[in-house]
Amino acid sequence: MPPETPSVTSRPHWLEIAVPAHAEAVEAVSEILSRFGHNGIAVELPVESRGGTDHTVKAYLVEDAETFAKVSDVRDALGHLQAFGLGPIGDLAVRHVDDADWLEAWKASVTPIRIGAFLVRPTWSDARDDGAITLALDPGMAFGTGLHPTTQQCLEALSDLRLHGVRVLDVGTGSGILAIAAAKRGAREVVAVDTDPLAVRAATENAQGNQVAVDVRRGSASDVDGTFDVVLANLVGPVLVQIAAALRARVRTSGSLVAAGITTQAESEVLAAFSAQGLGVVDRAERADWVRLILTV
Ligand code: SAH
Repeated sequence: MPPETPSVTSRPHWLEIAVPAHAEAVEAVSEILSRFGHNGIAVELPVESRGGTDHTVKAYLVEDAETFAKVSDVRDALGHLQAFGLGPIGDLAVRHVDDADWLEAWKASVTPIRIGAFLVRPTWSDARDDGAITLALDPGMAFGTGLHPTTQQCLEALSDLRLHGVRVLDVGTGSGILAIAAAKRGAREVVAVDTDPLAVRAATENAQGNQVAVDVRRGSASDVDGTFDVVLANLVGPVLVQIAAALRARVRTSGSLVAAGITTQAESEVLAAFSAQGLGVVDRAERADWVRLILTV
């Protein structure tokens, strides 16, 4: 979400922190910046992924007495991340954004995007598209503004799957975008879980803002009872492997598991974990090195 418009009487000075990151490091860098940024983070994606540090994660903070210490904390945290080898990260850049119009200019640069049956637009826009289901979400609130390739792949799956009257579970809901999309396509009941309390809050607010009922809870697949017609899991390869059994347990017989966030390198390992649980692939999509699978039991 963008910072609030500075008031005229006491206009604060904003600092922008920008960190170039490899696709696989984006989530971890976002998590760090969101701890320091004023109102969430923004992720800029490359038009075409070339690998390397071609994503940029940005956060905005109000300049005050603590700013210097905060930037230095961000540097430390990023240093630790690099030490864990979580994909390459470029040099952190800090700049002043004192231009009073920058926020409006930035808002204008966030354009609605049509994906399958959906039109994803920022909350401040009133864009519509004939026949499209509108999803109103602020960029950068939590991961999942509808722009990341893996989210797009899941929205495409949600455009085609039969959802009317079914039960849907969204594991790792982030901003809630997929859960909201499922609810808007007529799902009877949508449960969304995330281990991150910030995501739980964002998804709850976004579901309200989009006027749909989503049961958002903190936790993961293993914290939910019962089975679902459709289980969504846009996570990362190693997490999908780790929770494969818990995901399988939530899919009803001949139900669908939509699994995404899988890099082409991680695909065989993820497939092996799913097939060990008796899950078979019925559909596969690939974009910019990301693989989305639809599996069934
Ligand atoms: N569903 C959204 C967000 C995907 S990002 C979208 O498609 O755009 C992945 C989310 O999964 C993050 O919000 C992260 O906090 C959450 N997550 C990571 N590991 C998890 C786990 N084991 N169980 C549940 N959620 C998890």
